[in-house]
Amino acid sequence: MSPIIERYLPAAAAPRAARPATAVQLRHADRNLPRYTSYPTALAFQPGEGEAAPLDWFAGTRPEDVISAYVHVPFCRRLCWYCGCHTTVAHEYDRIDTFQRVLEREIDLLGRALGSHAGAAHLHFGGGSPNALSPEHFLKLLRRLGDRLRLRPDAEVAVELDPALLSDAFVDALGEGGVTRASLGVQTFDPIVQEKVNRIQPFERVAAAAERLRARGVAALNFDLMYGLPAQSPENVAKSVELALRLRPDRVAVFGYAHVPWMKKHQVMIKDADLADVAGRWEQAEAADQALVAGGYIRIGLDHYARPDDPLARAAAEGRLRRNFQGYTDDPAPVLIPVGPSSIGHFREGFVQNAIATDAWSRAIAADELPLARKLPLSRGDRLRAAVIERLMCDMAADVGAICETHGAPADALDASLEKLDEAVRDGLCRISGRQVEIAEDARRLMRVVASAFDERLPIAQTRHAKAV
Ligand code: SF4
Repeated sequence: MSPIIERYLPAAAAPRAARPATAVQLRHADRNLPRYTSYPTALAFQPGEGEAAPLDWFAGTRPEDVISAYVHVPFCRRLCWYCGCHTTVAHEYDRIDTFQRVLEREIDLLGRALGSHAGAAHLHFGGGSPNALSPEHFLKLLRRLGDRLRLRPDAEVAVELDPALLSDAFVDALGEGGVTRASLGVQTFDPIVQEKVNRIQPFERVAAAAERLRARGVAALNFDLMYGLPAQSPENVAKSVELALRLRPDRVAVFGYAHVPWMKKHQVMIKDADLADVAGRWEQAEAADQALVAGGYIRIGLDHYARPDDPLARAAAEGRLRRNFQGYTDDPAPVLIPVGPSSIGHFREGFVQNAIATDAWSRAIAADELPLARKLPLSRGDRLRAAVIERLMCDMAADVGAICETHGAPADALDASLEKLDEAVRDGLCRISGRQVEIAEDARRLMRVVASAFDERLPIAQTRHAKAV
């Protein structure tokens, strides 16, 4: 049995007893660190012209490349106070109507810009709330994407949904369009917490949404839950998890609320006095973890959980797990196409990001140009650091020397980063043997601390990130 399989099986079979964090763990948990959904992180992307030409990256896809696409719908019908996404409230449907027309044009431009490829295996609609679109517009966009990006018959089509505003007609459209996976933003079932974050959605509403989605053939369901919200406690977090598990989601993600009102102005609606300190956040995350493991879910990376038969759990057990902007995935595609404002694309050569503001994005498309605003060509050093960070975030282990050699660098290329782990080793967060790093199971929640030793851009960006836990 591989060490990775061994790592996952005991977690499912024998949940740990809930334990408060130690003083040492809390010291590390209080650091501001990226989530490492990419390396380098989006803060490193640069505007303007340069030597590398992203249009060549689109044209340079290869006939054997299976591609993925992320479609960003930047509208919601009301604002949740904790929101950290690129979205606005559309009071009139006219704005969304205009948006979907521009999006159709962008999809046409993308279809023309891409070189030959083997078709799209993953489409992911996020936002915002994709169900801010009308069912007719959603289906129209899905069909256009299917045509222009040549959706493969076995493709995964995943859609993030706001269950509070999910109409029966939209669920019917998801079924008609062949959507395979829906992610429901549940966050909490506690009515007091829901009121404090301006997101009222009773359990019955989510239960009805889950039932209708399954009845319409959307077989796989993900739930997003949160800790660290105002008035949350270990008890009400555990209760929300237990209620969520009654609806048998295939995957659950448990995200910590990032309180950054200096970047997201509406978060001032959340009072500091209602928020737990780092020790309290740790206990809430621990309560969610215990309830999920007791419910038979497998821990996946930092903050995801899956039923043992779910493809993500299998990918984790087989060492095929990948980190991406949505969290964790089993999608091996080398190319991610950005669609919609603020979307990020990933090519072998580097990252690109579309204009964030919907106006700037629309203007570029009206001029028949892809709305690319920022980019980051990847150096060999970026690639090997990204590979190490991804393995640590996915497997909690990385053979740093072997990864360096795979990327054409000497085995000792990242020895200076390994030396930065001295304190983490002393504090029991990880072990190092030769050039192999292994994160301790008790430090799973602190894996970003270990990964950050390989992040050579961290000193510039550190203050822009939320707490590690
Ligand atoms: S539904 Fe999601 S994207 Fe929209 S405001 Fe709420 S948290 Fe933000």
